[in-house]
Amino acid sequence: MSDTNKKVVTRFAPSPTGFMHVGGVRTALYAWAWAKKNDGTFILRIEDTDKAREVEGSIAHIMESLKWLGIEWDQGPDIGGSHAPYLQSERLESYKKYANILIEKGLAYPDPYTKEEIESFRKNAEDEKKVFLFRDHRPEKFGVWNGTQPLRFKVPVVKSYTWMDEVRGELSAGPEALDDFILIKSDGYPTYNFAHIIDDLEMGVTHIMRADEFIASTPKFLSLYEALEIIPPVLVTLPPILGKEGTKKLGKRDGAKDILEYRNDGFLADAMVNFLAFLGWNPGDERDVMTPLEIIESFDISRIHKSGAMLDEEKLLWLNKEHLKRQSDEVKLNEVKKHLPDYPEDLLKRLLPSIIDRISVYSQIDHIESTEFRFFIDSPEVDIEKIIWKDETKDQAAIHLEEVKRLIESGDLSSVENVNKLIMPYAEVQGKGSVLWPLRYSLSGQEKSIDPFTLVYILGKEESIKRIEKVLEKLT
Ligand code: GLU
Repeated sequence: MSDTNKKVVTRFAPSPTGFMHVGGVRTALYAWAWAKKNDGTFILRIEDTDKAREVEGSIAHIMESLKWLGIEWDQGPDIGGSHAPYLQSERLESYKKYANILIEKGLAYPDPYTKEEIESFRKNAEDEKKVFLFRDHRPEKFGVWNGTQPLRFKVPVVKSYTWMDEVRGELSAGPEALDDFILIKSDGYPTYNFAHIIDDLEMGVTHIMRADEFIASTPKFLSLYEALEIIPPVLVTLPPILGKEGTKKLGKRDGAKDILEYRNDGFLADAMVNFLAFLGWNPGDERDVMTPLEIIESFDISRIHKSGAMLDEEKLLWLNKEHLKRQSDEVKLNEVKKHLPDYPEDLLKRLLPSIIDRISVYSQIDHIESTEFRFFIDSPEVDIEKIIWKDETKDQAAIHLEEVKRLIESGDLSSVENVNKLIMPYAEVQGKGSVLWPLRYSLSGQEKSIDPFTLVYILGKEESIKRIEKVLEKLT
């Protein structure tokens, strides 16, 4: 097929018809990773030739989504490049040039029929239970194309095709897959079928990575490549992305989210890239938490899966936590501060490991703040009846709290381990529940919370003693 010594050039070629979803970004990621892995070029090309389906703001949204994830293009509409322009709507001259080449070869002709006529051909075929093929109605003599009629490709040879797909292996289709498809529409814009072939040629694209919906049209593309004497790029069909139950293909309509929603929900870009990369690929070893750089280094088309990849948001949460845990304390602290702006910094520093333990995404802090962390800055209201461990008495609770207070007053609280060493021997002698329950409850006002040693460490000497004394006053 194609010349393997050529510099790798890949492209992401979205149509600006709405927001970017998981499937689109996964395609971009694979194309990008393959280009980067091979020191090649990654192109962003906007396929904006279907004006009726265009959605305003899509191009900006596509770029913002890719940028968020660090999928940076080497050539594109905003930065230009050696094959500019990168908006198909600005490349009409190229399409016209190749359309004329085909016309000269006798391989393109203006469609002479009205919509109604074509509809009646279609209806007749349906009535006769035959596949409707435009080429069955090809005019004997071609008219002159004046640019206002649709221009159709004349399939040069009606035959079967067998081709190699790097992921799917050998594929084939019979002659019924070929038809005289439209190259240029009556509005002057090319079809995807035509435009992408010309652009890929002019931009030197070596590998096409795209969704499986294009397999059915591939014989048409192959026939056009032949007509123009073009060596096709390597074809790489990516596996479909399935919903959680693993059967239904994920479509925009049935819940595939706008990728920027994940950003708004607080997901980390690196975790998202990791998640997307594993939707249809793996490095072939034990690793499942990987940075974008590691993904690039390991990326290989031969490891792209054939079968559908299941989108499991639980896995994304897990990955996000793994990436979050690997961040430096400085980064973590900065992120946490955004969600807990009224917490003193020194408290936050001590509280940090406990916060990280409890979340997978930073934004979750907002949901658990009032129950899990608020008592660290607002001294809790304690219900004195709850301080009693099992069938013990208030006096016993008071004795233990007095002793723990004494230990805290003179002890080393510089780490959770030191607090543990300070209080645990006494608790072991007296009964762990008898000592640690009243202590934990006095400090947190909660029946379930972080362990008492960590509480003492985070609250510090002064605050811990203040809270114990408040309870002791009520007890005695
Ligand atoms: N414009 C096509 C789409 O958005 C891209 C297909 C391709 O990558 O060639 O579906």
